[in-house]
Formats: sequence, structure tokens, C-alpha cells
Amino acid sequence: MAPYDDSDSSGGEDNELTETNVLLGYASTDANGEEISRLGGYPEWLNPTKAPSAALAKCKVCKDLLVLLLQLNAELPDRFPGHERRIYVFACKRKSCRRQEGSIRAVRGLRTSPEAAALVAAKEAKEARPVKEVPVIPKASDLGLGQALFGGKPAVTATGAPIRANPFSGSSGTSAAANPFAPKSTPSANLFAKPAPPPAPEPKKADPAPDPVPSLTKSFAETLSLNNPQASQSPVPPPEPWPATADQPEAYPVRWLSDAEYEMIDPSPQPLPPANVQIDTSEGPAPGGGKEDKEVFESVMDNVFQKFADRVGENPDQCIRYEFAGQPLLYSKGDKVGLLLHVNSEAGAKVTTTGAKGLPRCGNCGAGRVFEVQLTPRTIEELEIDEDGLDGMDWGTVIVGVCERDCQERGVEVGEAGYLEEWAGVQWEELTVKR
Ligand SMILES: [Zn+2]
Ligand SMILES: [Zn+2]
Repeated sequence: MAPYDDSDSSGGEDNELTETNVLLGYASTDANGEEISRLGGYPEWLNPTKAPSAALAKCKVCKDLLVLLLQLNAELPDRFPGHERRIYVFACKRKSCRRQEGSIRAVRGLRTSPEAAALVAAKEAKEARPVKEVPVIPKASDLGLGQALFGGKPAVTATGAPIRANPFSGSSGTSAAANPFAPKSTPSANLFAKPAPPPAPEPKKADPAPDPVPSLTKSFAETLSLNNPQASQSPVPPPEPWPATADQPEAYPVRWLSDAEYEMIDPSPQPLPPANVQIDTSEGPAPGGGKEDKEVFESVMDNVFQKFADRVGENPDQCIRYEFAGQPLLYSKGDKVGLLLHVNSEAGAKVTTTGAKGLPRCGNCGAGRVFEVQLTPRTIEELEIDEDGLDGMDWGTVIVGVCERDCQERGVEVGEAGYLEEWAGVQWEELTVKR
């Protein structure tokens, strides 16, 4: 991502810092008007009287209920008008489950307004025309993203300057650029277009694609059905009731994400974004020093980790990094998640679904996934502030990838809340740092 060049919007007190597209969330014991976005506590659902199936938040190892790490107001009114969105990240508290698949999980909650479908249809009609024109989705553009995401209060930077309007929106691009992930369907979409069965807690796939855009190739459609051979027939397990608070594992203390601002970094030592030019330069000149320096310094893994540490270190209080369809900051290249995502990230491309590499496709609708938010180790400090600290959570980052279409749970009607599991990529501490 290219840096914004209007960095003087911060009031100009430090012109050497460059603003990035990453929105940083900071934690506080003071809600300061924030009502949704926070670390810790018990989850609050879009419809408080209707929890999702507890199956979504059970540890896949020990089967106990997970505890909440993050609850985020993730509304993106420009991109998904009329979509009330929340991201939840859960973790198992048992030590024996750590480092195991399914001990940290992510859920996306969604409630669409009756107007949303009409807005999306209008938007797509516009985009279907080859006219270069900025899509006009009314009213969202005058919201600061910080406000849109983290709720209540006016979005300002630390210096009190207003945060720019939503940078993910189309203000600087054509309509195509503004919505590169426009919902797609395929000529064979009718495969999935059966009448929806009753509400399902963990549907394997495919809500009907409501909006025919003839842009998917047949081979993609075929791939899709090959990858999901059983999906349309698979029975859906009944929802599991969410246990009463008293029956849940004890929650972490609440830390409100009441402060958000765009990341400011010093561009001089390491130009952003992570260009990863150091990787694969074994024959070429080292970017920042002589050959010997490089040999001493360069473990590829350490290099990625060092970049993580340096970048986070520039704003050490950051607890979450948010950029819908942006790039996660990898903690390691060598682990499973790193191997999956590094190619995308290295090429400077968006981390998304690209064949076998990249984020796995949405298990519900089959669309690609994009990066949305990640947790930094500071989150652990905030959540474990009352614990003795030697034996706490030991991840380096949790990366959340979400459906690029923001699809709805199968069988959930307009105006109702649905919940879907999203992709949580965990990069664990330590094992990934050593060579
Ligand atoms: Zn567990
Ligand atoms: Zn989806």
C-alpha cells in the first residue's frame, strides 16, 4: 500500500512521519463513549437476545467454550452499506490447547438492513457500466473511519485533527477501484441457489448469490464445486445454546478500544510497506548493508520478525491493526500462516485468496477472503494485566481473514443477525522466532 501523501493532516507537528492505511486501535479502561469495540469481557451480540450457536466459539481441541479476546465494530458503510458488522476473536484459556489448531477462532456477525440490498444492487448496476465514476453511497463518506469502526465519538487523531474520511472508500479511485471485491456470481450460481433451509449455525457453504455479474470463469466455478463436493447436501448441525455467563469460563477484563488513529511511521529506516526486498536476494546486493552484514543478519524468519517488531515498536501501544483488504503484518515467515500468506505479502499484493496460497475461501459462500484485522502482543498485556505474566498466552499475532463479500449466514433474513466462522491465523511466539 502506498503511503498517503497528505500527512500534513496531522497538524504538521512532525513532517517526518508517514501515515499508512492501517488503523491502529488502542486500549483503555475508559470507554470514553465506546460501546462495542473492546478487548476482553463477554461477547455482546448484534441482537442481544439471540446468541449464535455456541459451536462457533468452542475450542476445537478441548470443546470448551472459548473466551473473548476482541469484539470489534467493523462497519464499513462505504463498502458494505447497510451492513451492521462485528468481528469477534476467541481463545481457549487452557494451556494444554495452546499452539493447536482451533484454540483461537474468529466469528463475523452481520445484520443487514432492508435498504442494504437495494444499495448494493444500485452500486453494482453502476459498476457494471464501464463508466469511470466514483460510486456515490450517501452519508458514509462523512464519517471518520475511526468513528465508523470504533463507534461513538468523533474520530480525531492524537493531535486532535479530524481523521480523514474512510480511506477504503472510493474517494480517490474509479468505481472499480473503490470496490475491487464486488460480489460475483457465476453462470452456475444456480447450483447454490436453492431455497434456503432453516437457520443453520455452521453452514458449510453457499448462500444464493443474489447478484448476477457474469465475470467468473467456468473453471473457477468448477473449482469451487470440486472443493466443496459435499457442501450443498451436508446436513447442518442444530444450534448449540450459548451458556449462561455463570457457566462460561471467566472473561478477561474489559479494555475499550476507545482510541483509534491511522498508523504513523518513520519512513526512513524501512520504507513502507513491507517490501520484503531482502527476501530472495541471496545473489544480489543486500539492501541495507554489505554482504557480511547480510549473512549475519539474515535469517529470513528473523527478518520478518524483526520487521514486525520494528513496525509495532513505532507505536508500541497498538493492540489491533485494522485495514480491510490490506496486508497483515506477519510475525514470521516460516510457520504455517507465514508460509500461506507470505507470497502475497512479499509481492506487495493484497493478501487474499489466490488458488492454493493465501487465505482460504469463505466456507459459506465460496468467495475469496481478505485480511481485515490482527491482534498484536500488546493485547495480551492488556488482557493479562491481572495475571502474573509468566504463563500467559503466547501468540505473536492473530490474523483475521474475512469473506470479501461480507456474506450472510444461510437462512438468516434481512434485519436478523447471522454469524459465520472466519479465518483466524495464529502465529505463535518463540517457535517461529528462532531459526
Ligand atoms: Zn481448548
Ligand atoms: Zn462469504
